[in-house]
Amino acid sequence: MIIILRPHAAPKQEQSLCEYIESCGLKAVSVPGDGRSVLCVVGDASALAADYIRSLDFVESVKAVTAPYRLAGRLSHPDDSVISVGSVSIGGGGFAVIAGPCSVESREQVCGIASAVKASGATLLRGGAFKPRTSPYDFQGLRSDGIPLLLEAKRLTGLPVVSEILDMSQLPLFVDVDVIQVGARNMQNTELLKALSRCGKPILLKRGWSNTVDELLTSAEYLMSGGNADVILCERGIRTFETATRNTLDLSAVPVIKERSHLPVIVDPSHAAGKSAYVEPMALAAAAAGADGVMIEVHNDPAHARCDGPQALTPQRFDALCKKLFAVRKAVMSCEN
Ligand code: PEP
Ligand code: MN
Repeated sequence: MIIILRPHAAPKQEQSLCEYIESCGLKAVSVPGDGRSVLCVVGDASALAADYIRSLDFVESVKAVTAPYRLAGRLSHPDDSVISVGSVSIGGGGFAVIAGPCSVESREQVCGIASAVKASGATLLRGGAFKPRTSPYDFQGLRSDGIPLLLEAKRLTGLPVVSEILDMSQLPLFVDVDVIQVGARNMQNTELLKALSRCGKPILLKRGWSNTVDELLTSAEYLMSGGNADVILCERGIRTFETATRNTLDLSAVPVIKERSHLPVIVDPSHAAGKSAYVEPMALAAAAAGADGVMIEVHNDPAHARCDGPQALTPQRFDALCKKLFAVRKAVMSCEN
């Protein structure tokens, strides 16, 4: 930690701050600066109350030199993490294609979509049973009735499944779900994250639409510090002043996350774009930007989908996208080798 003092800071104040730092078992080294002092704290600065130091009127600023995510950070783990989901690996050079409906609506719907996306090259099936809707009047998902239908589609196709959990009380229903999704709305539900850190399953952690990359990584840290190393991050668009799309897909998050963390990162262009016409170009851009995979919403009848129909691709459009997606991946890989 680096503490920059204000020019008017009295030597007595600096002295008392140094004593506080030393009382926490750390060392403070004072570096005289341009009309002001800079204190360098040597040791694990998490023992200090940074906000207290920041609130002192003779302190100008406090800068952390280490990120608040030790386990999720690249420093502690220089190689890319690879998360195994059944026979599928996410991260470390492969490319995951997670596809399926926004919400599970019926056996025919989810099984039909699952078979179609598998034939096109999807590696995992998605489908929400519990839907976190903005309005209480909108379809909330089939809830506990939805999971068995998703599992039927898993048995039919062999695809591992991803589904969103909203509350820990739902966990017993997820025993046969391969990857548990924590959605954008719950990215900072720290009690849920702590509980999921002990669930023994890979977690797909989506970025909140008003959260920074560092906040996403700090949420991943909640899962990892509780004992769950199998975390897959997902960029799904953030809220900006732009209204032409549902969210703004922050593709720059991909290289930023890759630099700061060893965890795999996938991109969800469906929730970012909000409109099916924009999904394909953004999915291709994600593949080119170095994402470890994409998550795409697919529906057999988007006009009658009970949730997120406008952004859903039909199985035919998904098939066309996959062909382009694998071509882009191949091109990028051949340039890297
Ligand atoms: C979803 O994936 O179905 C979903 C609700 O996404 P998000 O949490 O990104 O809004
Ligand atoms: Mn959706």
